[in-house]
Amino acid sequence: MRQARDEAPRAIYAVAMDAASLYIHIPFCVRKCEYCDFYSGVAGEEEIDQYLDALEVECALRFRQPFSPRTIFMGGGTPTRLSATQLLRLGDILRKRIDLSQCLEFTSEINPGTLTPEKADALMRMGVDRASFGVQSFQTKFLQGLGRAYEAGTATRAVQMARDAGIARISMDLMFALPNQTIDDLRDDLQRALSHDTEHLSLYALTFEDDTPLTRQLQSGEVQPCDEELEREMFELVGSTCSEAGLQRYEVSNFARPGAECRHNVVYWTGGDWHGIGAGAHAMIDGEISQNGADFKAYTKALLQERRLPTTRQEKLSPQARAESLLLMGLRLTQGVELARFERFAGASFDSICGETAKRLTALGLLELTPTHVRATAEGLLLLDNLIVELADAMEATV
Ligand code: SF4
Repeated sequence: MRQARDEAPRAIYAVAMDAASLYIHIPFCVRKCEYCDFYSGVAGEEEIDQYLDALEVECALRFRQPFSPRTIFMGGGTPTRLSATQLLRLGDILRKRIDLSQCLEFTSEINPGTLTPEKADALMRMGVDRASFGVQSFQTKFLQGLGRAYEAGTATRAVQMARDAGIARISMDLMFALPNQTIDDLRDDLQRALSHDTEHLSLYALTFEDDTPLTRQLQSGEVQPCDEELEREMFELVGSTCSEAGLQRYEVSNFARPGAECRHNVVYWTGGDWHGIGAGAHAMIDGEISQNGADFKAYTKALLQERRLPTTRQEKLSPQARAESLLLMGLRLTQGVELARFERFAGASFDSICGETAKRLTALGLLELTPTHVRATAEGLLLLDNLIVELADAMEATV
């Protein structure tokens, strides 16, 4: 029987202290979006079937004893690029090695254009209880600009399919600061997302990544970036609109109803442990990072022909690097970084390492220290990258 998920909201931040989580990577997409620089590719059914064979071998090599993760996140790529039959097979593969009885949350990313009622049902049967929809916009003109393979209205139908299958928890990703997007366009997208009674929203400003078609359009003058002042206005609109709808900002880009925070991502932001399976997946166990090679063909070959784990990176982080990574991730949370955890990772107190810098940033109104946490203020969240650089410099100067 799966554990009840009605723990007190604060317990969500303690998930990382419990047991490791699991990330599953599905590196396939229907086609490549214009702005995307993630490793993902287009593949035929046979290649996907082989990938599932390889995942089965990876699970057998990695989890010799049944593994009982606290949370699971299946991302990509596009997990729902798999057919319903392939999803069901993946569920069977996982069940051989993964014990879901203690799992608090099992999320699957969903690209709205690829969901069918059969796939929604297959996800539910796999144990998925949280659907994270990569909506990005409800307006066809922006979807086309981003190269998303669906139209306005598709997301609404897909959310209904997930709900009909019994997947109760719904999250949506939206993008803002899109070329030619006005503040009213964003307001409209936010209202449409909230009208689906979504419990969680992730909102990301578009970034122009190197070597993507959209960046080439920017370089040739075909598209214009969003004005900085407008982007700041949009960031504020996102916060106020979500707050009025009862979704609180708990991370710089994430909003949730109380208790609906993404427990899996909280594990990353609070320095927890997780295993990763699939091409390109990372893992972090007790300060040791490991990563599988990102090329799915090389991944399949290593597991199916050579019967070895496809690890391409393995590195034990120094106490300083581990504490720095905790700051980097944890300051994104509105609750901030737990000082006791920082001290456990760094081997020395936050005050003894970053005290002077923290005092200066606090005087500037960018940082706040409580008896248990250090966190960015609302103003500090807007300048988060600078804050992190200053604190990281202070750490390097001390060690
Ligand atoms: S669906 Fe996601 S992973 Fe796939 S190309 Fe688009 S943005 Fe990239």
